[in-house]
Amino acid sequence: MIKKNKPKIAIIGAGLAGLNLARLLGELADVIVFEKSDKVGGRLSTLNEQGFSFDHGAQFFTAKDPAFQTFVKELEMHHAVEQWNARFVELKSGEIQSERVWDKDFPHYVGSPAMNSIAQYLAQNIDIRFKHLITDIKKIKSNWFLKTANSEFGPFDWLIIAIPAEQANDLLPKNLSPKIMLQDVKMQPCFTLMLGYEDESFFDWDAAFVSDSILSWVSVNSSKPNRGKPLTIIVMSTNEWADENLHKPDPIIIREMLNELAKISSKTLKEASFIKLKRWKYANAHRQEKALEIIDYSSNLALCGDWCISGRIESAFMSSLNLANKLKNFTP
Ligand SMILES: Cc1cc2nc3c(=O)[nH]c(=O)nc-3n(C[C@H](O)[C@H](O)[C@H](O)COP(=O)(O)OP(=O)(O)OC[C@H]3O[C@@H](n4cnc5c(N)ncnc54)[C@H](O)[C@@H]3O)c2cc1C
Repeated sequence: MIKKNKPKIAIIGAGLAGLNLARLLGELADVIVFEKSDKVGGRLSTLNEQGFSFDHGAQFFTAKDPAFQTFVKELEMHHAVEQWNARFVELKSGEIQSERVWDKDFPHYVGSPAMNSIAQYLAQNIDIRFKHLITDIKKIKSNWFLKTANSEFGPFDWLIIAIPAEQANDLLPKNLSPKIMLQDVKMQPCFTLMLGYEDESFFDWDAAFVSDSILSWVSVNSSKPNRGKPLTIIVMSTNEWADENLHKPDPIIIREMLNELAKISSKTLKEASFIKLKRWKYANAHRQEKALEIIDYSSNLALCGDWCISGRIESAFMSSLNLANKLKNFTP
């Protein structure tokens, strides 16, 4: 991508993948990120409402690849992440199967003071256009143009799409080769139930993987570092149950998830002061046998995101890092 004048790059999506890519390419190119919502982070998200705070997307992460470990160290140095030494249990049929405390031997991290702090750290010095839902993309001669409901943006030398696979598929015109690579990527939905209480935690643990249930995960969100009071609890459904029940209205989903929470935790639940359901249509993605690298050098179009590898934070980072390295080494 070495050119006399700095190339102009448009990135769609200010999640971890889009932001990381923007920061890695920022020295070589003029980069603009288009984001449909009014904040950064995408699924790295935190809801603050009525004095309660919930990480209602990604919950925590681990770091395996050395490149990602280096990035996590940088985040730690800037206090954007901390280790979460949670009292962790595995629950099955209402019984604790195993328990341990997460520690520095295999660190589990969370954004600090909220999950979206990671995105906020990355977003510094990036030109982001918020509330810009891209509805159409067009290639005219060698340039890309992007459309929102009211405006058109361009020309751009390169277009990079960093949004969930199925949304990317909807955006891509029929005749482009990257579209074919998206056909087999199916993302899965998930329900997140958020519960806020005025009193102390009634669980003896902070985080639980759940099996044999319509629920997959329960955590005391307020037990994460730097969250403080009041008590907040996150309850997540399995992807399969969400898929089967997407058509049901919120009150029914909430009731079924609350009944199941009481069952698997063997607790009579007190009435929560705050209850809200979040429906994630595109929450997770299966692990790819081989990481997808989607770059079309003939049309100057590329895609990245967690789904290119697996539905995890580390994958969103690695997918954008791999793409940035490829683009940096490309000489047209
Ligand atoms: C409920 C839930 C629980 C999870 N738990 C974990 C966990 O515990 N650990 C873990 O590692 N991972 C977890 N994940 C996955 C993790 O959140 C993702 O892997 C990661 O955040 C994906 O980042 P991304 O940048 O690829 O995509 P996203 O975060 O989806 O970013 C895409 C961005 O593009 C924007 N966008 C979409 N379409 C358009 C458009 N047309 N125009 C403009 N902008 C657009 C979106 O608003 C969004 O900001 C979880 C996800 C969910 C939903």
